[in-house]
Amino acid sequence: THPIAQRTTSEWQQLDAAHHIHPFSDMGALNRLGSRVITRAQGVYLWDSDGNKIIDGMAGLWCVNVGYGRQELADAAYRQMLELPYYNTFFKTTHPPIIELSKLLSEIAPPGFEHFFYCNSGSEGNDTTLRVVYQYWAAMGKPGKKYVISRKNGYHGSTMAGATLGGMDYMHEQMPSKVEHIVHINQPYWFGEGGTLTPEAFGRQCAAELEQKILELGADNVAAFIGEPFQGAGGVIFPPESYWPEIQRICRQYDVLLCADEVIGGFGRTGEWFAHQHFGFEPDTMTLAKGLTSGYIPMGAVAIHKRIAQPLIDCGDFNHGLTYSGHPVAAAVAMANLRILRDGGVVAQVKTDTGPYFQQSLRQALADNPLVGEIAGQGLVAGMQLTADKASRKRFANGGEIGLKCRDYCFKNNLIMRATGDRMLLSPPLVMTRSEIDELVDKAKHCLALTA
Ligand code: PLP
Repeated sequence: THPIAQRTTSEWQQLDAAHHIHPFSDMGALNRLGSRVITRAQGVYLWDSDGNKIIDGMAGLWCVNVGYGRQELADAAYRQMLELPYYNTFFKTTHPPIIELSKLLSEIAPPGFEHFFYCNSGSEGNDTTLRVVYQYWAAMGKPGKKYVISRKNGYHGSTMAGATLGGMDYMHEQMPSKVEHIVHINQPYWFGEGGTLTPEAFGRQCAAELEQKILELGADNVAAFIGEPFQGAGGVIFPPESYWPEIQRICRQYDVLLCADEVIGGFGRTGEWFAHQHFGFEPDTMTLAKGLTSGYIPMGAVAIHKRIAQPLIDCGDFNHGLTYSGHPVAAAVAMANLRILRDGGVVAQVKTDTGPYFQQSLRQALADNPLVGEIAGQGLVAGMQLTADKASRKRFANGGEIGLKCRDYCFKNNLIMRATGDRMLLSPPLVMTRSEIDELVDKAKHCLALTA
């Protein structure tokens, strides 16, 4: 029997209000209005408890890459739960699912990424990345390298380290103190902050801030730079082409590790397996989560390049771990998911077919909308900047309001599109077909026209 009771929408809303605190939400306001109850999903669609069919333009929270309702993933979880539902790999033990997943990931990841440490989320992945970075520098006889540089308006999660690495202070206001030795530089957001510079010059200027910060702190004190190849939650911000090559050059010159947060960009979002491949740089570590299991079950990981992994392996105990590090059921689901993405040709299709089709359709559909000043994106991810004046790139005085207005139209029109301040975001499941893309783009066009 199914353990979840069948109830009416209002019964669910009342129980939700009575007992459930939602993440990143104003609970008072939410409880007055009532949450939308999502009861089932298939392919790229969700259904709510009133029977409305909703097109999911966000793949859940940027994670359901293979779409909803995949039997292969459910079967993998079911079989693994019966065979070995849990075991840890702390005390001289291991198990086949995590061995096989690590082998598969080493085949999918760019050359040199042969070692993986597992956790349950992107936030834990970034906490783990810091542990890896510090242990590496200790192993290299440079324990003074402690500072980690990240960026304003980056998002790296909601644990203490993740939130400190992130550059969205307003999201973590309740924290009285932050993790030490983390400092921020500006984001490479040309449309919003580039002024009169060309994108290329602005990209170089933003990268030069990294060099200035390293010199200010002293290269002997700087351990790593961490960034999302494109900023996801910050608004799908694609840096100018000049940015990442410069960042990589600076990291190499000053012996600073380059850590890519691939939690959103990983597993095919841009049409490449990992978003840094789109930008053409070579990180030392990659934080992975979300698309690793398509969100069917929690799992995160840190991929560690062999030039970093070998000193770690040679230096003795790595004192970090979680009860569910390398969970066998999550590993089995991840494998079923990765096989669909790879052997089912999903990532290849985003690169050659649906990705370019989506980008082109969106640009065509919104060309005449007076609000949409910039469309950034690649593959199946896009950010649309709402502007008061397109030509001068002038923003609205209270940008958040227009973003929420647009999001509400989307909600009423059964489209999930996210607002980050005055940017609207799309990141649909990677299995979305051309005709489903047509529907998504039509709905986005309609809702943006209502907003204008
Ligand atoms: N890093 C990036 C780039 C993310 O977008 C997110 C979540 O959206 C995280 C880390 C945190 O992941 P999680 O919510 O799984 O902890």
